Amino acid sequence: MFCQCVHHFGQPLRSETREDMQPTGTEVILSVVAAGVCHSDLHVREGGYSLGHGRWMSYEERGVKLPVVMGHETVGRIVAAGPEAGKLDPARNYVIYPWCGCGNCDFCKTGDEQLCATPRFLGIHKDGGYATQIRVPHPRYLFDIGDLDPQFAAPLACSGLTTYAAIKKIRDTVADHHPVVIGAGGLGLMCLQLLAAMGSKPAVVVDIDPTKREAAMKAGAHATVDPKAEDAIARIHDACGGAPHAAIDFVGAESTAELGFNCLAKAGTLVTVGLFGGAAPWALPLIALRSAVIRGSYTGSLVDFAELMELARKGAINPIPTRKYPLAEAENVLNMLEKGKVIGRAILDPELKG
Ligand code: NAD
Ligand code: ZN
Repeated sequence: MFCQCVHHFGQPLRSETREDMQPTGTEVILSVVAAGVCHSDLHVREGGYSLGHGRWMSYEERGVKLPVVMGHETVGRIVAAGPEAGKLDPARNYVIYPWCGCGNCDFCKTGDEQLCATPRFLGIHKDGGYATQIRVPHPRYLFDIGDLDPQFAAPLACSGLTTYAAIKKIRDTVADHHPVVIGAGGLGLMCLQLLAAMGSKPAVVVDIDPTKREAAMKAGAHATVDPKAEDAIARIHDACGGAPHAAIDFVGAESTAELGFNCLAKAGTLVTVGLFGGAAPWALPLIALRSAVIRGSYTGSLVDFAELMELARKGAINPIPTRKYPLAEAENVLNMLEKGKVIGRAILDPELKG
């Protein structure tokens, strides 16, 4: 098998050839058909997150062992299964739920494996999809994509699931009030499609990049706002027909957290998803005075993923823009994403030759 690995944090990926994988127990080996490139992979390559005030959360200190193969948005076809994996169909394409936990704690027992304290996330703690083969610990993580295009289905495992779970946290407001979506990258554009599929009013989208704002309009945004405009908050209020009741921040920088919080109506909800980094910018009295709700959201549960896949297989979700690249191009694709040059999602395809 061939893979692209992080050998040292902060350095370019390296190509590697390894022995083909053999499964044991409940494991399933898939040959990778499509692997989405998420902005979180930039944080993994870098080795952690800025926590603001000069602090840094390091993957190394959190026990991530190198080398690791990134890639947590993966579709593949089964090539081998361990003796306890049960009967699986090698002719089908499966999208992999990558947020695997220990399987035994209270979170894992209810399907909230993404919250497990000893995660085994594929593409972060265990090898992921930037490869020709991937090892999945149990068939419960495999979801049949039916007739869906693998290029559309791969991003559902992170950008789809993450935005689906974030929207569920503001669902009681979106049928009557335009939500605000900050960041129109892979997650933001997916969010616009899921909002439409879930019966929401279209979102007002905030992004610093005019090409991303244009992509958001094409994807069904109600209006877009440049956060650098001096009157950005007034523009958001105009577009929403008043102060919005909910905002989802897919950037997660100090400036977006501040804008998201300040634009909301009283008792509004700000959901923080993005991991660009920094420290909280809100004045504590204002959180109380405004009865504000500030919630984090991290990927989603197995139950969320099953619900999302049902919506997707029904054809209820319009695709976001995607473009395929050879697997050997992974490092270049990451660099393009870092420079803001990717619209929607870039997908690595091991079959595609450079
Ligand atoms: P992306 O690179 O595709 O998109 C980021 C978008 O944010 C771009 O359109 C960019 O122009 C915009 N942006 C950057 N700075 C901005 C600012 N100051 N104001 C407004 N817009 C700004 O990234 P993505 O794949 O959509 O991921 C977004 C973030 O979400 C990343 O930090 C990623 O790690 C994180 N993420 C979190 C979860 C989770 O579960 N919480 C899951 C997946 C990704
Ligand atoms: Zn991701």
